[in-house]
Amino acid sequence: MATTRIAMAPMKAAQIPKPGADFEIVEREIPNPDAGQVRIKVQACGVCHSDVLTKDGFPGINYPRVPGHEVAGIIDELGAGVSAWKKGQRVGVGWHGGHDGTCSQCRKGDFRNCRNRKIPGISYDGGYQQYMVAPVEALAAIPESLSDVEAAPLLCAGITTFGALRQSGAVPGDIVAVQGIGGLGHLGIQFANKFGYRVAAIGRGPENAALAKKLGASIYIDSKATNAAEALQKLGGAQVILATAPSSKAMSELIDGLGPNGKLMVIGATFDPIEVTPPQLIFGNHVIQGWAAGTPADSEDTLRFSELTGVRPMIETYPLEKAAEAYARMMSGNAQFRVVLTM
Ligand SMILES: [Zn+2]
Ligand SMILES: [Zn+2]
Repeated sequence: MATTRIAMAPMKAAQIPKPGADFEIVEREIPNPDAGQVRIKVQACGVCHSDVLTKDGFPGINYPRVPGHEVAGIIDELGAGVSAWKKGQRVGVGWHGGHDGTCSQCRKGDFRNCRNRKIPGISYDGGYQQYMVAPVEALAAIPESLSDVEAAPLLCAGITTFGALRQSGAVPGDIVAVQGIGGLGHLGIQFANKFGYRVAAIGRGPENAALAKKLGASIYIDSKATNAAEALQKLGGAQVILATAPSSKAMSELIDGLGPNGKLMVIGATFDPIEVTPPQLIFGNHVIQGWAAGTPADSEDTLRFSELTGVRPMIETYPLEKAAEAYARMMSGNAQFRVVLTM
């Protein structure tokens, strides 16, 4: 049978063939952008704990699927009707992978809570590949002075900590505690310091004290050696506790460290319940709030703020071919602190 299919150069992708399966490195044809989309030549892609959804399985994912929602690259091709972006422009794609513009939330301008929101690496193939396609409403411009490997983690871990802190209500001079010194926490400490807070970093064990101070904490609380909530109360109570480590038990234990009108901002995702009694919330008007990434406009704010202030992720890089190793390193919890794939 005759075919009119045009032969295209293959590219490499790291895909998950089915839920729970190992990564496989495959050759695929370079995808073409549809109307309203661009093709990105991926330069770097962060490996995030949320990639576990694609690796282990999540309702609605079609397999095989290429994970990755911390993408930094260069626009390589424009789909029909794309006028606001140019070929050769540096862009990033984070957790917010697209919205429909028509649902009840989008009609209110609340794109981050779109009822049909897309997530790269889940709704469509993400950044663990040499080329990917993304809709224009998912694109964030990357400032010139930020490298691809620095920008990639800022598009998820960065925007989440930056966004949670800037929406937290804390003002310069307030005591802000950052629980956990890992992929999220090491960025949270830096942003909190640059926002002008008195930063109390909370880690388990003494080994991260020097690093926490170097990142901008003025106080280090070792939650193994001392009761962290009591330590925060000795300082007057925290205005905000940014809870980054995925331990609901540790978060529950910190609630009594909140000062009057204080807020526990939850960004570390884990599925066991946070325990709190009504009086813990009632007395002192305490709030527990969750926070998820943000829109590409928020990503651009995060990138520009980082460029201005010198906030940078600490990273370990792996080539795309070693995606399985990179993912295992991230899952081990021993990475210092974000793992990034390079193409
Ligand atoms: Zn992420
Ligand atoms: Zn919508």
